[in-house]
Amino acid sequence: MSNFHHLVSRSGRTLLRNFQQVQKRNLQYVQLRNVSLVPELPESHEMLRSTCRDFAEGELKPIAAKLDKEHLYPTEQIKKMGDLGLMAIAIKEELGGAGLDYLAYAIAMEEISRGCASCGVVMSAHNSLYLGPLKNFGTKAQAEKFITPFTTGDRIGCFALSEPGNGSDAGAASTNARTNGDNFVLNGTKSWITNGYESEATVVFATTDKSLKHKGISAFVLPKPIKGLSLGKKEDKLGIRGSSTCNLIFEDCEIPKDGLIGKAGQGFKIAMMTLDEGRIGIAGQGLGIAQASLDCAMEYAEKRIAFGVPILKLQTIQNKIADMAMRIEAARLLTWRAAVLKDAGKPFTKEAAMAKLAASETATFASHQAIQILGGMGYVSDMPAERFYRDARITEIYEGTSEIQRLVIANNIIKEYSNKA
Ligand SMILES: Cc1cc2nc3c(=O)[nH]c(=O)nc-3n(C[C@H](O)[C@H](O)[C@H](O)COP(=O)(O)OP(=O)(O)OC[C@H]3O[C@@H](n4cnc5c(N)ncnc54)[C@H](O)[C@@H]3O)c2cc1C
Repeated sequence: MSNFHHLVSRSGRTLLRNFQQVQKRNLQYVQLRNVSLVPELPESHEMLRSTCRDFAEGELKPIAAKLDKEHLYPTEQIKKMGDLGLMAIAIKEELGGAGLDYLAYAIAMEEISRGCASCGVVMSAHNSLYLGPLKNFGTKAQAEKFITPFTTGDRIGCFALSEPGNGSDAGAASTNARTNGDNFVLNGTKSWITNGYESEATVVFATTDKSLKHKGISAFVLPKPIKGLSLGKKEDKLGIRGSSTCNLIFEDCEIPKDGLIGKAGQGFKIAMMTLDEGRIGIAGQGLGIAQASLDCAMEYAEKRIAFGVPILKLQTIQNKIADMAMRIEAARLLTWRAAVLKDAGKPFTKEAAMAKLAASETATFASHQAIQILGGMGYVSDMPAERFYRDARITEIYEGTSEIQRLVIANNIIKEYSNKA
């Protein structure tokens, strides 16, 4: 830990710079393009992994219970994550980002969430949901105004797609944007918005032509606070309670026309692409929670004596450990594979859905088993298992529920089979 602090304090981004240098000279990296054949990460990604693990262990794990209990936004921790380059992981260096790949993002998300799932969701909503669409579709001027000042952890963004009347059915959005001279005027309510309270900018989706249904949805970026935008109450959530979630209420909110991201009518496509990438991050979050559950269960089972032996010696407990570890490893491989496909510029929609589904259901499974292994101690907040269980649950809901992931996977499989016929 002390070495790590030394490196970070010397230069905030030293470790990620080292990562890039190692990555360039690492021949293994080429092989990693087919991660299913390579059981180990190359040196560059292993280094990033241990950096994030040390940070999470030293800076996040000790504070995670307090953030959860007191519903505190992790201001200081997010700033430190920004110093490490974790708040703009896949943004080009010219724009102030770390310029890393999605495999690095998945690994970092797992390690950060292993220490604190609330920090994980703040990081993922900012990186993939807010910065993602700007990175993929934004103009140079939008990048200067809405990406570069948002790369350090000092300022964060949010992503407003869901509405009270439609979550899974995102194409039925009823928030609208009408033109008024050189401006757009937004009206409607967006719900469940992560980072809603702390964010200083938002990507928002609104209909510019209702007759075109989902093809009439457009994406916009705007600063916060802004006249005509108010926030709903902070939701009192089951888990990830260190992050804020609230409604964004638009009432004649006027923004200049250059707030449009991409072209008018491209919004649904932008949202779906953003969610594909975002699912790799949420898979990482699920993995982190699952791994933390296994860590906690192992530590307890080694120490807890029942019938004269540590419960870890009991085969029933060992069966649970084996199932947890096997499911975590399988979900991790799916997650890395989805990330590697994305990094290689190949289709990854199905693989990202599989990764998110497997990792989120593994998080629920592993945290459930951890409570069982801890017995009564699993059920009280003196131990973190009950928090893992509460935090795990959301990973099966946001960025597409498990039912929606299964639809995405099945639709892709059906397409693949019909192409073969
Ligand atoms: C803590 C939290 C943070 C969030 N953060 C954000 C955010 O930052 N930005 C944002 O835009 N949204 C965010 N969301 C919203 C989230 O993405 C939605 O809640 C989610 O997509 C589900 O939508 P819904 O709640 O409207 O459920 P519904 O769509 O009403 O679904 C209810 C149930 O019906 C099932 N269902 C729906 N349609 C189908 C179908 N076709 N086939 C089978 N089953 C189906 C669902 O799987 C689910 O079980 C967040 C939500 C929460 C709780």
